[in-house]
Amino acid sequence: MTAAAPAPTRATRVLVLNSGSSSLKYQLLDMTDDSRLAAGLVERIGERQSRLTHSPLASDGDRRERVAPFPDHEAALKAVAAELDADGLGLDSPALAAIGHRVVHGGQRFTRPTLIDDTVLAEIERLVPLAPLHNPANLAGITTARALNPGLPQVAVFDTAFHTTMPEHAARYAIDAATADAHRVRRYGFHGTSHAYVSRKTAELLGEDPAGVNVIVLHLGNGASASAVAAGRCVETSMGVTPLEGLVMGTRSGDIDPAVVFHLVRVAGMSVDEVDELLNKRSGLRGLCGDNDMREISRRSEEGDEAARLAFDVYVHRLKKYIGSYYAVLGRVDAVAFTAGVGENSAPVRAAAIAGLETLGLSVDPVRNEASGRADSPAGGAARLISPADARVAVAVVPTDEELEIAQQTYAVISRTSA
Ligand code: AMP
Repeated sequence: MTAAAPAPTRATRVLVLNSGSSSLKYQLLDMTDDSRLAAGLVERIGERQSRLTHSPLASDGDRRERVAPFPDHEAALKAVAAELDADGLGLDSPALAAIGHRVVHGGQRFTRPTLIDDTVLAEIERLVPLAPLHNPANLAGITTARALNPGLPQVAVFDTAFHTTMPEHAARYAIDAATADAHRVRRYGFHGTSHAYVSRKTAELLGEDPAGVNVIVLHLGNGASASAVAAGRCVETSMGVTPLEGLVMGTRSGDIDPAVVFHLVRVAGMSVDEVDELLNKRSGLRGLCGDNDMREISRRSEEGDEAARLAFDVYVHRLKKYIGSYYAVLGRVDAVAFTAGVGENSAPVRAAAIAGLETLGLSVDPVRNEASGRADSPAGGAARLISPADARVAVAVVPTDEELEIAQQTYAVISRTSA
């Protein structure tokens, strides 16, 4: 074990774990100053060659890479624990206060971050049918972490929780109510930690209390979602039972006539699984033009590529429809905030999405909009306004930081329960 960061006298560190279906992302933060002590990623879990990349940020050490077969999340997390241990930051360190787990689906049951015990674990398990790819991976992360250090508090931070404040008329689909209730079919929404963080940061940027502002948040990453946030509470969001609904995404279709599914099953002879795969993996930007990276799409359309141009236009058109409809839902809008990979970095997407909305008080200053995008810091650079100085409604780029939000929510739960 090589000593690195000096251990503080109090337990002030939080390890954030984000377990995907075949990946495990992690960051270790010190909550006294929100600094990152370590960060890393395990990719291709379950495949023959998994890869662990670990950055010991506290000691300025070199990034380490390990290629090995990690058959499951348990093996991956044990390897991560060993890397942290080698930096003197192991899971048994007295400085570690808790582990915060991103859990994708909390259903209607979980409206806030929750200290994990056996009952909570069983309830997350009960939600697996609503998130069959994600919740099992999250559960594997939790059970392995518990086995590695049984005494360490673990907190579940749900992607859906921020959206549980939506009024019933926004959460309900207009289908047979008994069927919807029996199968828990309703709008849940996702990316909640990002929408919570970004809406709060936007209020901060405006110098206002979150309770005093209405914000439309556009989280445009590979997955993409919009939310309408009134006085700090979510009142509408674009994703639904699953993350498939809403905006055009990297590989997901977003909104579509549901009868397309019946048509493809009945007329094209596709199975339900094949349609599922089509709409989730071979649609969106990739389906339209073969690429799901906005950098590549912008480059191709500048060179006159018609398919890339159309993909860009479909993407922006959907975005504009959501801005308009959320404006109507909120009645008064103080700010529109762009975040995540595309939102933070693509000036052309931001300019095109806001173009023509001047009568709503929305416009973008070209020079501010073109100014450099996401900084290289792990926290993702500073929030900034891109609307003109005299704008009626602020338009902002607000880098998201889901790990920090999860760490802060986790630490708050621990501090409350140990007070
Ligand atoms: P995220 O899921 O938030 O990590 O976002 C990933 C997506 O952001 C990528 O698939 C790209 O489409 C997009 N992206 C990242 N960097 C840039 C950039 N410099 N310009 C445009 N799009 C970008």
